Amino acid sequence: MDAPVPALLRVLRAADFAARLHRDQRRKGEAREPYVNHLIDVACRVARASAGEDPVVVIAALLHDVVEDTPAGLADVAAAFGEEVAAVVAELSDDPALAKAERKRRQAEAAPGASGRAKMLRIADKISNLQSLIDSPPMNWDLARRIDYAHWAKAVVDGCRGDNPSLEAEFDETYAQAMACLERAAALAER
Ligand code: ZN
Repeated sequence: MDAPVPALLRVLRAADFAARLHRDQRRKGEAREPYVNHLIDVACRVARASAGEDPVVVIAALLHDVVEDTPAGLADVAAAFGEEVAAVVAELSDDPALAKAERKRRQAEAAPGASGRAKMLRIADKISNLQSLIDSPPMNWDLARRIDYAHWAKAVVDGCRGDNPSLEAEFDETYAQAMACLERAAALAER
C-alpha cells in the first residue's frame, strides 16, 4: 500500500489544483484580484478556526467554488482528494440549474442542516465576501444590490451559528463594518 500523503502536501496540491482551474477568473471588485486569493483567504480563515487540526476543511475551502465556477466536477474532486473532501464541496455547491434567487433562498434554508465543516466554511466564505464588499466593491453592483447581499449573507450565517464562536464574532464585526460603510455611501448618495 502507498504511504499516506502528508496533510501539508495535500493542502498545497489543492491550492495548485484550484489555482489552475480558476486561472482565468478574477474577483468582481474594482481591484480585479485573481480569484485564487479569495480561496486562500477562506482557507486561512478555516485553518485558524479549526486551529490547523482539520486538513479536510482547509482543502475543501480551497476547492469550494470549483464545481460551481469551473469545468471540474465532484467526481474530479473525489478522485484527486477523496470522498470526504468531495462531500463538503458538494454541500457548498449550489445547483447551477436553478435561478440565482432560488439558489440564494435554498442556501439560507439549508444552512441549519449543514455539516459542521460546511457551516464553518459558509461563515468564512461570507466574511471573505463582505470584506471584499468593503475593500473592493463589485463595480457593476449598485448600493441596493450590495445591501441586499449583506442581508442575505447574514441570513445564511445566522443559520450556521452555534459551533464557531470566534468565526461568528468575526462575521458580526465585518457585517457591522460593511453596513456602516453602505449607510455612509447611501447618505452621500442622498445629498
Ligand atoms: Zn467563495
